[in-house]
Amino acid sequence: MAKLIDGKLYAEALRKRIAIAVASLKKDHNLIPGLAVVLVGEDPASKVYVANKAKQTVEVGMNSWEHKMPADTSEADLLAMVQKLNDDPSVHGILVQMPVPKHIDSAKVLNTIDPAKDVDGFHVVNVGKLSTGQDALVACTPTGCVMLAKDTLGDLSGLNAVVIGRSNIVGKPVAQLLLAENCTVTIAHSRSKDLASIVRGADLVIAAVGRPEMVKGDWIKPGACVIDVGINRIERDGKNKLVGDCDFASCEAVAGSITPVPGGVGPMTIACLLHNTVKAAAAIHKVKTPEM
Ligand code: NDP
Repeated sequence: MAKLIDGKLYAEALRKRIAIAVASLKKDHNLIPGLAVVLVGEDPASKVYVANKAKQTVEVGMNSWEHKMPADTSEADLLAMVQKLNDDPSVHGILVQMPVPKHIDSAKVLNTIDPAKDVDGFHVVNVGKLSTGQDALVACTPTGCVMLAKDTLGDLSGLNAVVIGRSNIVGKPVAQLLLAENCTVTIAHSRSKDLASIVRGADLVIAAVGRPEMVKGDWIKPGACVIDVGINRIERDGKNKLVGDCDFASCEAVAGSITPVPGGVGPMTIACLLHNTVKAAAAIHKVKTPEM
């Protein structure tokens, strides 16, 4: 049976280290990192995410601001809000909760955020820096995946990594991070042929597809590490259930290590957001980023 990778535990420990870092910035530089989150509309899942982000931001000792805007907010008004936060010296991290309503161009919004405050790591400047090996604010879920993989496997150098999914928010940045860790990286997607045989070559599998339980145990190389990013709500036996992109029972029987859903990658995302906010605050104020 595979070792269970406990993302909840890892994220808790990371948040403790972040709280220590925040305290040291306060003490040594009179600097309180601050995160502003903008939520447009009434999407219930987004409301829960934003509330959790605010709670955890305060718990580590940082300033937190929530800006709720109605669903019919114009693109111009949202861009003006982002600009106001760009200009506010007490704000070091800006996050506009996605998805935004359809009448707003999300790329335009993301690229209006000051790259120095882009704690989601979605601005083209940060994406470009990541892909050219420069220090960048990197997307949170991919960062969390690689932290868990390194904590489990140690040095990732030379491993065959297969990333399933090529989205801008998970697949592509996680592939870039793994390349930076000297993995041999394959990115698979919906047009890939014979996905099972591609995955069978992987020492490390990152599944970011959004298809419940698609990856089966007989696709997994014995002993491989499986990081399941998928969050899928399904109904089973008349009950609502959260499952990943991997069929947990069959993959667990073959893998060397595996993240559960929930409790694997999920809890890492906010912890990495807080991590990025501390990093951004230190960089903006030109002080050394404390160890975290
Ligand atoms: P997207 O829908 O943006 O991307 C899915 C990717 O999977 C696409 O590249 C798509 O290929 C590929 N894909 C779809 N079907 C198949 C298939 N049958 N075989 C191979 N590849 C396929 O999703 P996201 O990247 O945003 O999210 C992926 C999953 O991760 C979701 O379940 C999401 O809920 C979860 N997630 C979890 C987070 C967290 O833990 N905090 C954060 C973000 C996401 P193509 O490009 O060809 O269409």
